[in-house]
Amino acid sequence: MNKKHNFSAGPCILPQDVFEKSAQAILDFNGIGLSLLEISHRSKDFVAVMDEARAIVKRLMNLNDDYEVLYLGGGASLQFVMVPFNLMKSENGKAAYLDTGVWAAGAIKEAKKFGSVDVVGSSKEDNYSYVPKDYTVGSEYDYFHCTSNNTIYGTQMKSFPKVDTLMVCDMSSDIFSRELDFSQFDLIYAGAQKNMGPAGVTLVVVKKEILGKSGRDIPSILDYSQHIAKESMYNTPPVFPVYASLLTLQHLENNGGIAAAEARNQAKAKLLYEEIDRNPLFETFCKKEDRSLMNVSFRLLDESKKEAFDNAWKAAGISGLNGHRSIGGYRASLYNALPLESVQVLVDVMKNF
Ligand SMILES: *Cc1c(COP(=O)(O)O)cnc(C)c1O
Repeated sequence: MNKKHNFSAGPCILPQDVFEKSAQAILDFNGIGLSLLEISHRSKDFVAVMDEARAIVKRLMNLNDDYEVLYLGGGASLQFVMVPFNLMKSENGKAAYLDTGVWAAGAIKEAKKFGSVDVVGSSKEDNYSYVPKDYTVGSEYDYFHCTSNNTIYGTQMKSFPKVDTLMVCDMSSDIFSRELDFSQFDLIYAGAQKNMGPAGVTLVVVKKEILGKSGRDIPSILDYSQHIAKESMYNTPPVFPVYASLLTLQHLENNGGIAAAEARNQAKAKLLYEEIDRNPLFETFCKKEDRSLMNVSFRLLDESKKEAFDNAWKAAGISGLNGHRSIGGYRASLYNALPLESVQVLVDVMKNF
């Protein structure tokens, strides 16, 4: 097999052994003579998968039993709706949002359907080239929502504010990429397909005590409490993405956990940013201090060289380097499973170019 250097922003590269083990599980799961895809989600083999998939998240994040872990359908986009539905008070509901990109703006748009939303900081006027830091969030808000990593622009929150309300974070594109005090958050969500698994499932980590207080009549399928009561099997869960996510998290745990992943991610990002800074042909889109370890968005200063550069990286076996359609340029996504060696290949192409 001729494996490419996959810099795709998502769905993204996963560890090779995750591809192999999940392919095997489709043929014969755990040696039971049946495929993972044809057994009941209530069978003991799958219940064990779900139990471990929930448990491993708490181990990796170092969270206690105040928190529950759910694997839900609908993508991170559904969480743009479930968060306000579950957390914004039905009477005079009010939430604070940080507007750091297209995804943050998507979350804001949905929240406005449930109550009033104050955008406490926004870098929209500057093409989302930085993360606003000069704001406060008081107790008049039901919660504060932020996006830890802005997948399109390549910016990342390096620290999180102390707020006087619940703290909600969309970690879709940097979950499990760096050490954080996860207990500072009351609710974390992440679409799996950026750094922890295939598309089709969304991780939700929620502090139990914050639920059931909105005064809203929440449809069961959108109610975190219902999913918790059913141990993340309120309805048929997306069994394959849950299993592949578990394999990815086991791979992470067996390779030094989040701390070791962060060290590898730092090394990859350093290698690439140093080349962008050194090479007069390229520049990043965003402020240096807010540069993401996960998504390195950059562009050619001279657009007329685009075709030649595209040919050069494609010839080197690189895939998925085009920037998001909204900003163009290039984006090298350095998710956990991308080896340093792939970054070196890209850097060599840039040097030679
Ligand atoms: C990709 C992405 C989303 C959207 O995820 P879906 O699972 O496609 O709904 C939301 N937030 C961030 C930060 C993302 O990168």
